[in-house]
Amino acid sequence: MVRLKCDDLTIEGNSVSGVSTYLRIGELDLIFDLGRCPISFIGTNHVFISHFHLDHYFGLPIYISQRWMAKIAPGQIFAPADGVEQLSQILNQISKLECSSIWDYELTPVQPGDRIEFRNNLVAYVLPLSHRVTSVGYLVCEVRQKLKPEFHHLEGSEIAELRRLGVKVTQPIELPKVAYLGDTNTVPLDAYPLLSKSPTLICECTFIQPEDQQRAEETMHFCLDQLVEIIPALQCRHIVLTHFSRRYDEATIRKTIASHFTPADQDRLKLII
Ligand SMILES: [Zn+2]
Ligand SMILES: [Zn+2]
Repeated sequence: MVRLKCDDLTIEGNSVSGVSTYLRIGELDLIFDLGRCPISFIGTNHVFISHFHLDHYFGLPIYISQRWMAKIAPGQIFAPADGVEQLSQILNQISKLECSSIWDYELTPVQPGDRIEFRNNLVAYVLPLSHRVTSVGYLVCEVRQKLKPEFHHLEGSEIAELRRLGVKVTQPIELPKVAYLGDTNTVPLDAYPLLSKSPTLICECTFIQPEDQQRAEETMHFCLDQLVEIIPALQCRHIVLTHFSRRYDEATIRKTIASHFTPADQDRLKLII
């Protein structure tokens, strides 16, 4: 299992195109995609599924059943609305096959534009992506209380007094923490400007060679040339690339990526291979 440190976040998991993608950020108590479910992921309470290709969600029965057997309350699972009903039927069938009853689980349909509040200080925006089936991304922001501008000139004691009198001196602001783009051949930077400001961006990069361009178009995946185009617009400190095709070995991936970017951009790039 790969373990990457991106400032105060730790990304654990793995990602190989067509095999499985599962990434956990313990500090935010969340998992992005669950193509396979390591036992260490069971206790994590929020799962965000990008789309219904097996390599992105087929760890769900393990996640749900292990929690159910261990009598842990159901985790919150978010998945594209388009396939939620079918997913629910599949989970119920597997559950019956396993134990003649239905596991307890919580499945929430999402669609682009949704704003999901979770934990007490986090929100996830659901982003539109383009893939062969409905696919969504997630932008997770931390909600913090900030002093309203009209009170900036006051001393601490004056602010405390206003608070005591019941005046609301703060307002919530949202700071992007991490964004996750599952399978896609587009990145919605214009529609979601906060995306380019996310300190950490996890992005698929299935194809890296020019001769695979046609395959990228057919399968609706992102490729290295597209990343080269958008990287000047990205202010992200960490750009984590995932979902490389199995046709490339690790040395080829590292060499090819290094040859396409400036040393400064190479420092921002982290690879999950
Ligand atoms: Zn995939
Ligand atoms: Zn896919």
